[in-house]
Amino acid sequence: MSAENFDIAIQGGGPVGLACAAWCLQKFPEAKIALLDRNPADDAELAASDSRGVALSHGSKLLLDTINAWPTECADIHRVHVSQAGRFGRALMTREELGQKALGHIIRYRDIHLTLRKALRAIQKNSPYFIWKHIDASTDVENIQAKCVVHAEGGLFKTQDWVESGRDYEQSALVGLVEVENGAPPFQAWERFTSEGPLAVLPSHYGPNILNLIWCGTPSSSQARLALSDADFLKSLQTEFGSRIGQFLKIQDRRLYELGLNYRKEIAQGNEVWIGNAAQTLHPVAGQGLNLGLRDAFLLAEKLSSLFSKSEDRKTPLVIESTLQEYAQSRKLDRSATIGLTDFMARIFTSNLLPIVIARGLALSALQWLPPIKTALARQMMFGRR
Ligand SMILES: Cc1cc2nc3c(=O)[nH]c(=O)nc-3n(C[C@H](O)[C@H](O)[C@H](O)COP(=O)(O)OP(=O)(O)OC[C@H]3O[C@@H](n4cnc5c(N)ncnc54)[C@H](O)[C@@H]3O)c2cc1C
Repeated sequence: MSAENFDIAIQGGGPVGLACAAWCLQKFPEAKIALLDRNPADDAELAASDSRGVALSHGSKLLLDTINAWPTECADIHRVHVSQAGRFGRALMTREELGQKALGHIIRYRDIHLTLRKALRAIQKNSPYFIWKHIDASTDVENIQAKCVVHAEGGLFKTQDWVESGRDYEQSALVGLVEVENGAPPFQAWERFTSEGPLAVLPSHYGPNILNLIWCGTPSSSQARLALSDADFLKSLQTEFGSRIGQFLKIQDRRLYELGLNYRKEIAQGNEVWIGNAAQTLHPVAGQGLNLGLRDAFLLAEKLSSLFSKSEDRKTPLVIESTLQEYAQSRKLDRSATIGLTDFMARIFTSNLLPIVIARGLALSALQWLPPIKTALARQMMFGRR
């Protein structure tokens, strides 16, 4: 098959690009798809890479289950405790209130990535026209032509080669694995809002003694924390988090990420469409980036598989363009609600202005005492807006 014959080229073999390819092929195995993946074909390098814990919602689990891409090593969250350091206001969300088996699940980024690769390899066996091409930055992709191009190049804030709308929160996230002395209550997550930003302590699949840490702060203080000795780092973490889960004993695998919001106003143009972080890069305060990206991938795959399973004469450039515009229209509500909620939380929980601090305390108390608001917020975070 010559390169010109591709129906769809997916650029980017991160979680969102892989999921999009898998859903397209599952729905229409004859689809002529080229996946352009900058990661090596061998999993070894990825298996030793990004170990950051990512929170996936129950909605994402249901989606990934459809392609057998749910990682085996994961920690469920049954309760989330939200508080402000040194201020009034706290809220507790539980799975019972929402009638769900879990509020969310914590999985290492690399496990999501690797499980999706495995799932796509299984689907590939029944997909005669699918090509998974491993490329590098110097590969000439010009000769790979397709009727429709899906951009799933992802990326982190400040590393992307496009900047459109958004905000620099002037924050960084320091992530790592922290060991606690007596073990934390199982299945519980803590989100504590400090004067510099959110500090989250999340369960991990290693058990109650090892927890995932995401500590947001100004770039300079995060950089300084990265450079601290383990003992000084743990002392400073203990001061900020308090003693509610006992003493922090060890810290491993500290990494730093710059945080901001970068999003495209238009996610479809001509025969091109953008999904996942290539469409929007969010602050991790609400744990929504990948969840939103998976919903992008799933809904785009529905549109594309239905379009490309039609006869040749019904796949004209005009029809492709209008299908992508329809897709973009269908994503408007979910995107704007998720981007808006995350941006609001990132800003409100980092402000030290007294009226905002008071309003924040009241908002947390309101969440505690007004279950319908809490339920609506949790549902948006678990399933997105449809
Ligand atoms: C500290 C932190 C914590 C987070 N926590 C959460 C969380 O709890 N919950 C949540 O839902 N989200 C979270 N996120 C966001 C989440 O990591 C991203 O939304 C998700 O990784 C996006 O997936 P993606 O496939 O779109 O992009 P990526 O994960 O960036 O993958 C893109 C892939 O494309 C490749 N690529 C790049 N350029 C090209 C090119 N030109 N051609 C081909 N391939 C290319 C890259 O090598 C990469 O493998 C967090 C982010 C950070 C920084």
